[in-house]
Amino acid sequence: MNAMSMGPTTRFVGFSKEDINNACFVHREKCTLWPEFLKQGYHKGNLFSNLAKFTGKKVFIVNYPTEECLKGEIEGKGFRVIHVQLVRDGRANLHSKIRHDSINGVVYPLEIILNWQIPKWVQINNEMPSDQALWYRLKYEDLLNIPKVTLSKLSTFVGLNYDSKAIKFWEFEHHLTAGNTGVIDTLCRMQNLKGWEHHRRESYSGYIKSIQLHNNDKYIDSEWKKALNRKQLLAFDCLFGVINQSLGYVRDDFSDEERKAFWMEFRKYDTLWKSESSLKKKLSNWFNNIR
Ligand SMILES: [Zn+2]
Repeated sequence: MNAMSMGPTTRFVGFSKEDINNACFVHREKCTLWPEFLKQGYHKGNLFSNLAKFTGKKVFIVNYPTEECLKGEIEGKGFRVIHVQLVRDGRANLHSKIRHDSINGVVYPLEIILNWQIPKWVQINNEMPSDQALWYRLKYEDLLNIPKVTLSKLSTFVGLNYDSKAIKFWEFEHHLTAGNTGVIDTLCRMQNLKGWEHHRRESYSGYIKSIQLHNNDKYIDSEWKKALNRKQLLAFDCLFGVINQSLGYVRDDFSDEERKAFWMEFRKYDTLWKSESSLKKKLSNWFNNIR
């Protein structure tokens, strides 16, 4: 295997000695890769060259590499950088963020759309190179619905040979330093590793069971279809619907009256949006009234 994936490099470059054992989210203190590699010394500026020597791997998949990482660790070091832009239906993403943030208190969906989804989209889109040959748009839903086709196309794009076993990611060794709880949880449970306690552990149990029973399954999280209320969907559609549609997602149906009502309410507070937190809450509450 020529490739390995990890989280953002900023998470572990510069780790103190005490933190080294927490670098790997899969194996924790029993990890056979990161602690030894990180103990070798200071890798900043030569991270991928050193990692290539240490692991023998040639392709590194990094989540959300920062500008500092791209400039300091990759560019000019003899690597070819290919961007993979992973997109998902923005409504699923909105629901996921609402669910995630509600652990820490009250959330305002409209605030998430305006202050997180839209700026994030603009930022990520701007980060893609102007040369189309250097970046690839990968749809999360395609990855789940037609995994073989999608993964083999992606493999060709990044210059790897597609292996049909790749879908059973839990059968391989991974040393993830960040990532989705579900993926890490699946790896730990399928490989009989200790893992860790988290609030969604129970909800993944059905998925783990179906992998064990059928040896291959997919988990499509479509909770958002039931969880988002009509006003939240209306707000999303008015503010983000066109962009979401341009990515291939079908828009929700709203009457002209409903759209007009949204914009009227929105414009009432729009100019004060950034400075007046009470108005922000008021407006958000208007969309949240069906919790
Ligand atoms: Zn590990």
